[in-house]
Parts: sequence; structure tokens; C-alpha cells
Amino acid sequence: MQEKLQALQQEALQKVTDAADLKALNDVRVAYLGKKGPITEVLRGMGSLSAEERPKLGALANEVRAAITAAIEEKHEALEEEAVNQQLALEKIDVTLPGAPVKKGNHHPLTKITEQLEDLFLGMGYTIAEGPEVEQDYYNFEALNLPKSHPARDMQDSFYITEEILMRTHTSPVQARTMEKHEGKGPVKIICPGKVYRRDNDDATHSHQFMQIEGLVVDENITMADLNGTLEVFAKKFFGEDREIRLRPSFFPFTEPSVEMDISCKICGGKGCSVCKGTGWIEILGGGMVHPNVLEMAGFDSSKYTGFAFGMGVERIAMLKYGIDDIRHFYTNDVRFTSQFHCHE
Ligand SMILES: [Zn+2]
Repeated sequence: MQEKLQALQQEALQKVTDAADLKALNDVRVAYLGKKGPITEVLRGMGSLSAEERPKLGALANEVRAAITAAIEEKHEALEEEAVNQQLALEKIDVTLPGAPVKKGNHHPLTKITEQLEDLFLGMGYTIAEGPEVEQDYYNFEALNLPKSHPARDMQDSFYITEEILMRTHTSPVQARTMEKHEGKGPVKIICPGKVYRRDNDDATHSHQFMQIEGLVVDENITMADLNGTLEVFAKKFFGEDREIRLRPSFFPFTEPSVEMDISCKICGGKGCSVCKGTGWIEILGGGMVHPNVLEMAGFDSSKYTGFAFGMGVERIAMLKYGIDDIRHFYTNDVRFTSQFHCHE
């Protein structure tokens, strides 16, 4: 029986060594150490042995069992480690492979134009002022010399929230709010960029939502010559040194006198073409000297202080600069359009 046990141990250890995977190893364990295995069988046959031999054989059987168990455990660990290594090998990342390209976006053309205009005026000593888009009637109209019954309000029909609150129709209320904060003391030198709203029907040149940038300078001894000089610098820096400007008389309730500024047509150099409708000039913005009523309402002494203001539509400037033919392109978010403005010039 001893020999039989030793032979079983040899046989089992060999099978453990040969086991190729965890399942095969488990089969060996069940076959040799299980309740129906040969070792259990040997122990069952011990009843026929003498009292002397019984404990010896019992001890040997336990040794054999322990040896096989130890071998199986060792093999089990080895197989598990191998399995983990195989898994790791499968999941290995080749860091030399080229990565998936990250799609790089770009600024919206209106953002670009706004930032370019801001840079230009910041360079001339202006600061940027902002205000609410949902505005009080007082700041949007009354503080700008547009009392309730004023007919010029018709040109800026807006979206009213209540009788006294509306979506601002221009960025001018930011001028009124800024002047009010200054409490009658100059100088004021700001630009106000932002979104504005009017009850227009959308077409190629109109949008119910659009953007403006306005400028305001209030100080002692500010004259029309300062406005003219500022607009000339703006036109040449923004559209090109070869561009000329001209000021035409116009009317706005918040400026007196009021002007419209044209720049010479780049296409025809002033001779007249289809772009400038044969005039040689392209309309860019409106402006003028701040109306004394506006200064007084904001707390400025209009006998001491004067000022100029101007305002332009950012879409119009962008359309002229980039040759865009329809204002609706700015708002339909077609990437074929918006991705054309990659470079940072
Ligand atoms: Zn022209």
C-alpha cells in the first residue's frame, strides 16, 4: 500500500506539472484529492491493516495529500500569474502609434471682429464697459433724449418684457449707465460691445438680434475734430491705410450734430462700382456730438463738458471685411461657414 501511495504521488505531481490551464489543474485536484479519489480509497482500505501499520500508513497518506495539495497550489499561482501576463500583453498600448487628432475649433467671426475692434480702441486708451441686455426703458430711451412720445422710437421697435422693461435696442444704455456712475466728472472714455435686439424681420441684411460696438468720450474741450480724427484712425487701422473717410450730416436723437461715416470703396478706389452702388463710398457707422440733454440727464454740466459718441453694427463690419453676403450666416451655425475664419490676423 505504501508503494501504491508513492506511485499515486508521482503520478499526481506529473499531472500537476503537465496541467496547461486552471481547468486542467482543477481536474487533477478533483481526481486525486476528491472524496472518490484513489487516496481516499487507500485510506478506506486501512481497516484490514494491523494496529501498528495503520498510523504509519495514515501519516504517509497525509504526507502524500499534503504534497499534492502544495504542488497544486503552487501551480495554481503560476497559472494565474501567466493568465494575468497574457491579459496584460493583450492590453498593451503601443505608445508609438500616432494619436487620434484633436479637432481644433476657432472663434466665431463676430467674436473675432469684436476682439479686433476692442484691441484697436483699447490701444487708443478706451476701456470696455458692459451692461444688461434686458434693460429699463429709462436707460434705453429716456436717458438718451428719447422720451416716451418721441417718433424716433419707431425706428427701434423692440421686444418688451413689461411697459418699462425691454430687450435693449442698442448698446447706448451702457453709455447712459456709465455716465451716470461718473456723477458729472470726466473724463469718460469707453467702448460698449454687446448684443442688441429689434423687432426686424430677418433677411439678408436684417436680424432681430445683432451686435454693436459703441464708443463714448466725454471730457472738457472735446470737439467734432476729435471724433473725425478717431474715426479716421479706426478706418485706416481696421480697413487699410489707403482708405479715406467722409462724414455726412445725419440725425440721431442722442447726438447733435449727428453724422454718418463712409469709407472709400476698396474695390473701385472711389470711382464707383456695384459694391458701393456707384458712389465710391461705403456707409460704416453713425455718430456725433453727445446731445446736451443726454449729458445733463447723466449729471454732467453741458456748459463745461462735451463729448462724442459713435456706434457700428459688428455684423456689417464683419460682412464688409470678409465679403459676407448674408447676415443670417452668422446665426445658422453652419460649420462650413464658421470654419472659414481660422487664421488670427
Ligand atoms: Zn466701389
